[in-house]
Amino acid sequence: MEDAVTAITKYLVIKKLAGDTLTILAIKEYLIDGLSPSTIGYKYKISKFRVRGYIQRIIDKARSHVAATAIVKAVLPYVLGVDPIILRVGNTYICLLCDAHLKSENVEHHIRRKHRDIVNSIVEQIVLKVRRHSQV
Ligand SMILES: [Zn+2]
Repeated sequence: MEDAVTAITKYLVIKKLAGDTLTILAIKEYLIDGLSPSTIGYKYKISKFRVRGYIQRIIDKARSHVAATAIVKAVLPYVLGVDPIILRVGNTYICLLCDAHLKSENVEHHIRRKHRDIVNSIVEQIVLKVRRHSQV
C-alpha cells in the first residue's frame, strides 16, 4: 500500500495535470488557510459538499487532519509547479500528450490509465524532494 505522502501527492498531481487548479486551491484554503467549506464553495462557485468531499479524501489518505495539513503544506509548492497536460477547448478536453479528446468526467481516468508512468515519475520526484527538506 502507498504511504500517505505518496497517495496525497498523486491525488494532487493528477488534478494539476488535468488542469484542475481550483480543487487544489480549495484543499489548500481549507487545510492551510482555515477557510470554511461554505466560504470556499462560494468563492469558486461549487457546493460546500463537494469541497468537503475533496478534503475528506485527503484526510482519509493521511488518517488525520494534522497529518493531512502537514503533507499538503510540504508538497503544494511542487504540485503547483507541474504543467497541465490537458487543454480545455469549449466542452472538450484535449490531452496534449496523445491528442485524445475527452469529456470532463473522463479526464482523470485517462491520465491515470494512459499516462501512469509520467504520473508516477512526477510523484516520485516530488516525494523525494519533500523528504529531503521536511519531516513528513
Ligand atoms: Zn493522453
